[in-house]
Amino acid sequence: MGGKSGPDMAISLADVQLSLGAGAARVHILRGISLDIAAGEAVGLVGPSGSGKSTLLMTLAGLERPDKGRVRLAGQDLGALDEDGLARFRGRHVGIVFQSFHLVPTMTALENVALPLELAGAEDAFARAEAELAAVGLRERAGHYPAQLSGGEQQRVAVARAIVAGPAVLVADEPTGNLDERTGAGIVDLLFGLRRDRGATLVLVTHDLGLARRCDRVVRLRSGRIVTDAEADTPPSIPATPALGAAAP
Ligand code: ADP
Ligand code: MG
Repeated sequence: MGGKSGPDMAISLADVQLSLGAGAARVHILRGISLDIAAGEAVGLVGPSGSGKSTLLMTLAGLERPDKGRVRLAGQDLGALDEDGLARFRGRHVGIVFQSFHLVPTMTALENVALPLELAGAEDAFARAEAELAAVGLRERAGHYPAQLSGGEQQRVAVARAIVAGPAVLVADEPTGNLDERTGAGIVDLLFGLRRDRGATLVLVTHDLGLARRCDRVVRLRSGRIVTDAEADTPPSIPATPALGAAAP
């Protein structure tokens, strides 16, 4: 990516190290990660189980703080923010999708999607949440609770919640891991469609290499280090029309 780094990048990590546990039980999880991701780029993060993929994703999203090194997101040095500032910054700039959806069970689909906007004090939270649910094909399910939705539908709600505040960066940790292949493919089409339509930067953890190859670039981790970082060897495929029927112009 042309040797650009730092402030121009959507995401920039410089020699990031992270350990957990104390004394003899201390485990080095990230062992010096340097990584620059350009705005609008889609990066697949792969590697064996336990190699640090989730930890790296949470670190670049500002949910984990490194022991050493620097994380910059949308030009902001995350290390310069206190906890409140970091939470506010994340709310504005980062959308996160987890393998197990992480919806609030006592809230309807609409309330779940509106939550980040309400926390940010937006007055039009419910109108925007409704539009976002429609964009993921769930207009008719707004009043349903997570337990009344299928796994694929719950993940669509989670994607709507992740994107509703218009984040520049969208990260997803094995977003299809709890779904059957077909349903998972629908979620992936949705993520790539959002990335294309809104110009978001996408970082996708997956152990599905076929899926990773849909990204512009594949970064492979082993034991907390980047072992390869290369443009995907097949051209990134852009889904014909993701299931955005309700929102299509
Ligand atoms: P991946 O997502 O690639 O499977 P993780 O980032 O979840 O890997 O974990 C990387 C390593 O860190 C693993 O060896 C895991 O056991 C360890 N680990 C994760 N969380 C903790 C923790 N809270 N305390 C100690 N070790 C942890
Ligand atoms: Mg993981």
